[in-house]
Amino acid sequence: MVSLSVDDLSVQYQSQGKKVHAVDHVTFAFGDNESLGIVGESGCGKSTLGLAIMKTLQENASVSGKILFDGKSILEIPDSEFTKDVRWKQMSMIFQGAMNSLDPVFTIKKQFEEILRKHSFQGDHMDAIKSAISSVGLAHSVLDKYPHEISGGMKQRIIIAMALILRPKMVIADEPTTALDVLVQAQIMILLKKLKKDGLSIILISHDLGIISEIAEKVGIMYAGQIVEFGKMEEIYKNPKHPYTIALLDSIPKMKETKRIIPLKGNPPSLISPPSGCRFYDRCPQAMEKCKKDPPKIKTESGFVMCWLHE
Ligand code: SF4
Repeated sequence: MVSLSVDDLSVQYQSQGKKVHAVDHVTFAFGDNESLGIVGESGCGKSTLGLAIMKTLQENASVSGKILFDGKSILEIPDSEFTKDVRWKQMSMIFQGAMNSLDPVFTIKKQFEEILRKHSFQGDHMDAIKSAISSVGLAHSVLDKYPHEISGGMKQRIIIAMALILRPKMVIADEPTTALDVLVQAQIMILLKKLKKDGLSIILISHDLGIISEIAEKVGIMYAGQIVEFGKMEEIYKNPKHPYTIALLDSIPKMKETKRIIPLKGNPPSLISPPSGCRFYDRCPQAMEKCKKDPPKIKTESGFVMCWLHE
């Protein structure tokens, strides 16, 4: 079982002489037997948040704040030690679009062997590879195939198996169903639910609140680098508080409703010079004069909401 707490985490990228505030003072926590969803539009900082937790940010990024993983302050662990003892062994990541990065000239088996070799894995390589392949519901015969000989869904299962091969306690899955057709999406979600049932903690990053609601007990709604609402999935799904969360839920098609989907107008603000007040101000149907000030963090039943409406 695993616990993760992120306290006042900020990530800035230095780009062409300007600072991009990709993640801004983000705080949340989740613990044993829980999985977490991070949801938001493209460019809201959710992937950067995952990369910061995995300590795999690019060199032009600077990080401040605290991340405690099972009580260890991971930003203080030297990179060499983190690579040796934590990354892939205790927590791993399914990177967005990773299935397209399988090497076309090597068989799947060779690519698994390379991972184990790089991590100086001491056990029996074939046993570990077969066990990882079985855990994602694939036949061992897939190991002799080249990437072009297998489907997109199988490739994504292989990427998940690669993330699991060193038996981490927690996996960060960044958009694991994007670019897959709906049937394969459903299969991948069933697989993630099974892995979770088997004891794996999952942080699922997605733009799709519907997908996140299938697996996560807790959810953070991210907008323009900030988590604007955080709490239990069920509570937020039934009773969303932040106008952005409400807009996200309104944009999900519902089978039994004939109500028109209401698209959210406008674009998020620049992360180079974000507004000093509420970042949703320009798009919010309930914006008030005082929203030009930084919104307060209001406690809810299981988390918080950043909005003057709930002062
Ligand atoms: Fe809308 Fe104001 Fe709440 Fe921001 S603080 S979401 S502008 S009501």
